[in-house]
Amino acid sequence: MIETHRIDLPRIVLIGEGVLDSLGSTCQELGFDSALLVTGRTTFEIAGKRAMENLRSSGVRVEEVFVGTAKLEHVSNIRERVEKHGHKVLIGVGGGSVIDTVKIGSTRAKKPFISIPTTASHDGIASSVASLKSLHRPYSVKTQSPIAVIADSKIVRHSPYRFTASGCGDILSKHVSVQDWKLAHEVRKEYYGAYAASLAFMSANLVMEQAENIKECTEEGIRTLLEALVSCGVAMSIAGSSRPCSGSEHLFSHALDLIAPKPALHGEQCGVGTIMMAHLHGLDWEKITNTLKILGGPTTAMELNIPEEYLVEALVKAQSIRPERYTILNEVNLTHSKAKALAEYCKVV
Ligand SMILES: [Zn+2]
Repeated sequence: MIETHRIDLPRIVLIGEGVLDSLGSTCQELGFDSALLVTGRTTFEIAGKRAMENLRSSGVRVEEVFVGTAKLEHVSNIRERVEKHGHKVLIGVGGGSVIDTVKIGSTRAKKPFISIPTTASHDGIASSVASLKSLHRPYSVKTQSPIAVIADSKIVRHSPYRFTASGCGDILSKHVSVQDWKLAHEVRKEYYGAYAASLAFMSANLVMEQAENIKECTEEGIRTLLEALVSCGVAMSIAGSSRPCSGSEHLFSHALDLIAPKPALHGEQCGVGTIMMAHLHGLDWEKITNTLKILGGPTTAMELNIPEEYLVEALVKAQSIRPERYTILNEVNLTHSKAKALAEYCKVV
């Protein structure tokens, strides 16, 4: 039997200064006359309000709903509202948790969604994978891809810079995740898609080249980062899994989320993980460190504000977070002393 490979991609992607004002016309173009806008309290002030005015002036009926962290109760609330009022589309305006909630909510309500990120903190803005907080731990949920992505670089440029640097850490991690994927293909005969892998790898290289522009928050720099984040989402859709964008460095970050009393941002942890996993892969880890330094992102446990012992423990436990995901960690088997030596060698502790 010939295996088929289904790829769902966004139909419209708008990136640039002031593109938020094209939301109404985008909805008209796609035939949506009624929308549920999902946002947070702060992001409503930053972009949600303007989005609603723009929709109304284009003749789109819209009501808003406020959500916090991506939790199941928000998801069911969204679904009920959509069913009750017959909304044609969901629009997520906000950071990672808002977008994740909309992704899951819209998938369950069987309605399309539009992603409007207000920060560039990670590559979930255009992907078909979301993270949901359950009672004890967050877990990944497969969702649909957004039908449209509207990433206004002016809004992102004015967001707290820490989020932007975090997004860069998430993108730089593709240097490692692509290698882990290749390794899994060689050792375990796992499916490997050269096109998806190249797209993720290219995004990481472009962000590396634009590091100084991103640090200065120039239009070109922020646009490159947004394009990279969207491209990585597309790479995951093409691959049909998070494989091209999530390897051992992501397992390390997930472990920190569970172990550290106060975890740092996802992309910040992935960036630091990338330094150490790059070394395990025999890549130029110092180049990763230097790029993160140019970007003003953390490169050490101290800068992550996580005590060293938790970081070492996260290295030891990383592979057990998702045992089926074969990575370089399966080859090196990090004991406590090996993990500590690795972190020391890479100047992370
Ligand atoms: Zn990530």
